[in-house]
Amino acid sequence: MSAETHAAGAVLVACPQCHSLVRVPEARAGEHPKCPRCKSQVLTGQPLALDVTAFAAHVERATLPVLVDFWAPWCGPCRMMAPVLDRAAAQRATALRVAKVNTDEQPELAGRFGIRSIPTLILFRAGRELARQSGAVDATGLSRWLDRALT
Ligand SMILES: [Zn+2]
Repeated sequence: MSAETHAAGAVLVACPQCHSLVRVPEARAGEHPKCPRCKSQVLTGQPLALDVTAFAAHVERATLPVLVDFWAPWCGPCRMMAPVLDRAAAQRATALRVAKVNTDEQPELAGRFGIRSIPTLILFRAGRELARQSGAVDATGLSRWLDRALT
């Protein structure tokens, strides 16, 4: 990594469309930054589905914290969590990427992180696991958990 990527007050965010890394000064995160390569908005405020390739960009290479929901379509508690995650993604659009890994379609990722039950939420920053939560939580519980883990 170059010295520039470690400059104070900036985060690296992966583009949701082309998965390029985009450097976003924190002071400008609220100004709808765009990807220089594909012109997509990089902070969408919506959960993003990840496969192995996208996971590497968004979780391992980017430095913006990423909340990953390991879920499956047949799981009732996972479906109940969906609106909670949508809301967290919208509310924390400039500070957090909310991502989803379908464990049926991405067994390699589920195996890598030892996912035994779903939903499991893992919060990452710069590729490092900060916190993990198994089982569904409501919006208040999620918010508290995120605030505790991110400070
Ligand atoms: Zn892009």
